[in-house]
Amino acid sequence: MSHVLTAVAWPYANGPRHIGHVSGFGVPSDVFSRYMRMAGHDVLMVSGTDEHGTPIQVQADAEGVTPRELVDRYNRVIVEDLHGLGLSYDLFTRTTTRNHYAVVQEMFETLYRNGYIVAKTTLGARSPSTGRTLPDRYIEGTCPICGYDSARGDQCDNCGNQLDPEQLINPRSKINGETPEFVETEHFFLDLPALAEALNKWLDSRDEWRPNVLRFSRNLIEDLHPRAITRDLEWGVPVPLEDWRDRNDKRIYVWFDAVIGYLSASIEWARRSGDPEAWRKWWQDPDARSYYFMGKDNIVFHSVIWPAILLGYDGEGSRDGKPGKFGRLELPTEVVSSEYLTMEGRKFSSSRRVVIYVRDFLERYDADALRYFIAVAGPESNDTDFTWSEFLRRNNDELVAGWGNLVNRSISMAAKNFGAIPTPGPLTEADEALLATVRAGFESVGALIAKHRQKAAISEAMRLVGEANKYMSESAPWKLKEDKERMGTILYVTLQAVSDLNTLLTPFLPHAAQRIHELLGGTGVHAPMPEIVEVGDLDGGPEYPILTGDYTVGTRWEPTELPAGRPLAPPTPVFRKLDPSIVEEELARLES
Ligand SMILES: [Zn+2]
Repeated sequence: MSHVLTAVAWPYANGPRHIGHVSGFGVPSDVFSRYMRMAGHDVLMVSGTDEHGTPIQVQADAEGVTPRELVDRYNRVIVEDLHGLGLSYDLFTRTTTRNHYAVVQEMFETLYRNGYIVAKTTLGARSPSTGRTLPDRYIEGTCPICGYDSARGDQCDNCGNQLDPEQLINPRSKINGETPEFVETEHFFLDLPALAEALNKWLDSRDEWRPNVLRFSRNLIEDLHPRAITRDLEWGVPVPLEDWRDRNDKRIYVWFDAVIGYLSASIEWARRSGDPEAWRKWWQDPDARSYYFMGKDNIVFHSVIWPAILLGYDGEGSRDGKPGKFGRLELPTEVVSSEYLTMEGRKFSSSRRVVIYVRDFLERYDADALRYFIAVAGPESNDTDFTWSEFLRRNNDELVAGWGNLVNRSISMAAKNFGAIPTPGPLTEADEALLATVRAGFESVGALIAKHRQKAAISEAMRLVGEANKYMSESAPWKLKEDKERMGTILYVTLQAVSDLNTLLTPFLPHAAQRIHELLGGTGVHAPMPEIVEVGDLDGGPEYPILTGDYTVGTRWEPTELPAGRPLAPPTPVFRKLDPSIVEEELARLES
């Protein structure tokens, strides 16, 4: 048993999340965490909404609300959606808590003291007519990288690259259209070149990483520059230095505060658990392991920048230094990135309505139907396309006709003929063979999930479902009305296989797994679920909803013997067969 940190990318709180988002960071991290807990590890799964930055401020301005009102709204929407998907966070919090501010400022101060944050004079935009500083969000121009003509002063929304205002071609003020003048202003930079050697040394020890992630990270390190970590903005974490603390025109850059969320959320979880030091078991024990889940556009932050921040905090770059008050912190064990999901051959786009939000999806379909699709056909190692016809096919032909049918017909027949789990007679070679085949799945499926090959893992589990279906069809218990003992034996073997297959599928399909557990006469929690709890800010800020849960309960990753004689009732279907008409309905929604 070991301590396993599942660090899940932080969804940005500027709107509801669509299924492309949760297929990258959400479902895979939950499958992994559920499996690791079932296998006996002590998992801490943390994340929250990422709530600072210019885009939030811009949108709040456009809607005539404060940034705080905007993020309060979308934090709640996102919490409810992740809850609906059954994602088992130990803590899903947000970056606007006082705890998070304090942790970010402690990291900043220590990095500064150790010499890895340096002040630099750069060019900032100023309005010639008023003489006032123009915050990043009020400057627009053409992106020097992709040519998009409405790039903002800190970021291009078209290509996603971070920019500085003076890089924009034909910059203009969004307030009055005038051309801003650029004057010298001071900002803080993370001195990445001073951490490059330590980063390289650390990457040398990452021999289990996927080669493409290693190659990508090494290339980045070859060409590292100091990176700005403050902006001209009013919304964000204040800079915790003398003469800066009270300025309301400079804030810590959103990316810097968001990656520190993994640590601050772990600390918040510990403080809420009653043992404020408990987070150290996941962050300071060299035997603990940490897995970071994200989409591929975020690899750089997790394989290079967050490790650099941690190395600087630990005092391990070329300027040396000493760890701050938290003590030495461990770097990521593994960075697990996913590729992109597209929608009917196009990029997801809220503005062009090429989108389905998690909430709308869950109003019309079951969470496990989406979880199944993401696991078996999601963007694990290639960009993949979500189409409604493929969703329909996977749901009806595989989930309903494969797994659902096996569950339904075996339990129905046992309930009708025996009213209970039958008592088996002597087992034949074929009976023993099926049970052994299914039991071997605990090894094969588990090893694949542990190696982040979830597509192969669920395919293997579904192959075993196919074996059990074949066994039942070939044994044809319905033809044995005259031989009740043999019929009972076949049904017992099938139900035992169903029970073990249900355990193998639990990380992927937790809602269905709980129901099947109950259909087999089981009681208690089989697959624990997260709950939404309204909590007060630990340090006196406003209340907010968190996701948390007790995941110490639940079935273990091992075969469990079904007790003969346990009463069974006729089952209701666990999975819903979808009408083919949904494809046209959904496509019409996309076009409208
Ligand atoms: Zn661009």
